[in-house]
Amino acid sequence: MIAHKLSEILKQIPPNITLVAVSKTHPEAHILEAYQAGQRIFGENKVQELTTKQQNLPKDIQWHFIGHLQTNKVKYIAPFIGLVHGVESLKLLKAINKEALKNNRVIDCLLQFHIAREETKFGLNQAEASEMLLSEGYKTLSGVNIRGVMGMASFTNDENSIKGEFKNLKCIFESLKSNFFSTKADFNIVSMGMSGDYRLAIQEGSNMIRVGSHIFGERHQVT
Ligand SMILES: *Cc1c(COP(=O)(O)O)cnc(C)c1O
Repeated sequence: MIAHKLSEILKQIPPNITLVAVSKTHPEAHILEAYQAGQRIFGENKVQELTTKQQNLPKDIQWHFIGHLQTNKVKYIAPFIGLVHGVESLKLLKAINKEALKNNRVIDCLLQFHIAREETKFGLNQAEASEMLLSEGYKTLSGVNIRGVMGMASFTNDENSIKGEFKNLKCIFESLKSNFFSTKADFNIVSMGMSGDYRLAIQEGSNMIRVGSHIFGERHQVT
């Protein structure tokens, strides 16, 4: 079932799009099923759940953290995390930097932007991001590597507003690229699109989609 869902999605998306299989709340057996079907990138949003799964599952899985990361928990995932999607403050970036250096690593991160109408969703606006990238504090961080942007669209059936929000994130990406990262070839990730809206996201320039329920089924726990 999971293998079938995965191959259905992979058939629909261009090969240059990275699929993050969002496995939060789902059991390790289901992750293994996806792994055996060839999937290697998985996304989780709770530190405790992620570290347990990381210990128990194959070591060539690349784990992405897609949730709200507390600074005091960075140390638990710093030894292995592949990409942190949700960086939205210099404080968090500094915490990731510190733990990365302790582990002799450089940790890839995405800046999360608030593109939705809902107040509840996290993220920076463009002015805050600029301020952060121009700050003295940011310049000294050698343990983090900002690879691009991430965002979540509003929870709505209105396709035009979803598209508009994704367009906006793509614009933010292009503007950051030209203003701050023009010489940095690996500033190249636009993480947008989930089960309900990844097709629209790809149309609007996403190259990394985060798909959970479409692969693993509905989540029964509150996340
Ligand atoms: C849960 C989650 C997803 C996946 O959501 P689905 O609708 O199940 O595909 C993607 N991104 C983030 C940030 C999430 O928290």
